[in-house]
Amino acid sequence: MSEPLLEVKDLNIHFFTDEGVVKAADGVDLIIERGKTLCLVGESGCGKSVTSRSFLNIIPSPGKIVSGQMLYRQQLPDGTTTTIDLAALDPKGKDIRRIRGKEISMIFQEPMTSLSMMHTVGDQITETIRLHENVSKQEARDRAIEMLRLVGIPKPARLIDEYPFRLSGGMRQRTMIAMALCCNPTMLIADEPTTALDVTTQAQILDLMLELQQRYNMALLFITHDLGVVAEIADEVAVMYLGKIVERADVDTIFNAPKHPYTQALLHSIPKIAMKREELDPIKGMIPNPYRRPSGCAFHPRCSQVMERCKHITPNVTAIQPDHTVRCLLYEDMPEQVTQKEAMHHD
Ligand code: SF4
Repeated sequence: MSEPLLEVKDLNIHFFTDEGVVKAADGVDLIIERGKTLCLVGESGCGKSVTSRSFLNIIPSPGKIVSGQMLYRQQLPDGTTTTIDLAALDPKGKDIRRIRGKEISMIFQEPMTSLSMMHTVGDQITETIRLHENVSKQEARDRAIEMLRLVGIPKPARLIDEYPFRLSGGMRQRTMIAMALCCNPTMLIADEPTTALDVTTQAQILDLMLELQQRYNMALLFITHDLGVVAEIADEVAVMYLGKIVERADVDTIFNAPKHPYTQALLHSIPKIAMKREELDPIKGMIPNPYRRPSGCAFHPRCSQVMERCKHITPNVTAIQPDHTVRCLLYEDMPEQVTQKEAMHHD
């Protein structure tokens, strides 16, 4: 394994509300390598988006990073690297602003989250370039046109003066990618970027992202609940459930030898060609209310392999192989019989 670009260690993000505290990230560990794609998967509401936003220090209020590290290896102009803990930076300070949008950028499911309706495409891309680089207006404009061409926009010299609301969904998505990549980032975070698109445009956008990733040797953190997309693009996969990474491995292992009952259930719920609707096996139950997190293993009310002790003991991370970890009591080396009292003590 090469030196990681970003190493997340025991990250905890809490939302403090009148109803209680929600642990959106609960001891998250992740490694993202240069030039590789890590897919973060799980159902909606399991903490994927909040975790990824924390790398840019843009967690929506009332969320806060309460502990943990996000060690980012920044490349310096002389070719050496230095390590910055992104979790320790002031969210409004100049250090994170220098990294945000320049070295780490993000694209969203809904382009309107990052594109303004009030300004032309060109103004928005050139402004991003000039915010981070000391170039003239004309140079920035030329670069913006080149970037739009690269993301497959026809007649970019004309489109650059259009407003986003006049573009189709696919074109807006391409424009947002152009804006995210205009400063040649080392890492791109893509939060469900193709979910709202039709299948053909979705395939084109995915191809485009992979092509640009190779061209720039960019790390890609791709957040999705669509395992079909994961199979196509991932190198590594991290499966998240209620704020915890429950399984982590390379993509082949996740699809061919998944260990965690949640990963197995997610895979069984993917529709396959020639499968009848009644053959689909959706995961039973719903993601629990985050204010009423189940005791022990948070997946236990939905797990097909639940044991008595799962209700009382929070599983630790077990390494099945050096690069394959799982959080499940089925794989923990522990006595078969644990009394409820002992179990409660563990929890
Ligand atoms: Fe299922 Fe128990 Fe494993 Fe949780 S710890 S996933 S409930 S078997």
